[in-house]
Amino acid sequence: MSKKQKLLFATGNAHKLTELRQVLGQQYEIAGLKDLGIPTDIPETGVTLHENAAQKAQYLYEKLGTPCLAEDTGLEVEALDGAPGVYSARFAGPDCNAEENMKKLLNELEGCPNRKARFRTVIALVEGGEMTFFEGICPGTIARQSKGDKGFGYDPVFIPEGFDKTFAQMNAREKNAISHRKKAVELLARHLNNHSINFRK
Ligand code: IMP
Repeated sequence: MSKKQKLLFATGNAHKLTELRQVLGQQYEIAGLKDLGIPTDIPETGVTLHENAAQKAQYLYEKLGTPCLAEDTGLEVEALDGAPGVYSARFAGPDCNAEENMKKLLNELEGCPNRKARFRTVIALVEGGEMTFFEGICPGTIARQSKGDKGFGYDPVFIPEGFDKTFAQMNAREKNAISHRKKAVELLARHLNNHSINFRK
C-alpha cells in the first residue's frame, strides 16, 4: 500500500488542523507548524484573505524550500460592509478571544434585521515559485444569540443557510459537509489529484 502524501500547512491553529484532517485525512497526512517544529506566530499583515494566506504559505516555503499550504478565513457580515472579514481574529482588539469577538459582533448587529453573513476560506498553495488559490464560501446568517459548544471561533453565532442551528450545535461531520473550509479543501484536493506535486516526504 502506498504511503499517504504529506501536506504541509502553515498553521498553528489546532481546530483548523483537526478539520483539515477530518476532510482530507483519508488521502493525505496533514502536518502543521508544531509538527514541523516551526514557531506558530507567523505575521499576518495583509488586507485580504488572499494576501494573508499567501504570506503564510510563502513564510513556510522559505523555511522548508518545498511546496507548502496555508489558509486564511474570515466572517463577512453584509450589514457591516463585509467586516470583520480579514480582521475576524482581532475584531474586538489585538489580544481578544472568541467570546469577545462574538460579543462585539452581536452588539454591532443589535436591532439590525439584516443578519446575512458568510464564512470565506482561502487556501494558498506555493510550489516552484507559483502561488495557486482555492476559495470556499459558506453562506448563512448571524444568530441573535450564541448557541452551542462545538466547533470554534464564531461557530456559536453562525447559522449556515438551510439550517436552523449554529455551526456550534452541529457535530464535526455536519459542519464538515457544508463548511467554507471543506469547499476550499475540495478544490485543493482536485488540484492535487490532477497535478503531481512533491511535498516533503
Ligand atoms: P484566521 O484564519 O486564523 O485568521 O481566523 C480568523 C478568525 O475567524 C478567527 O477568529 C477564527 O477563530 C475564526 N474562524 C476561522 N475559521 C472558522 C470557522 O470555521 N468557524 C468559526 N470561526 C472561524
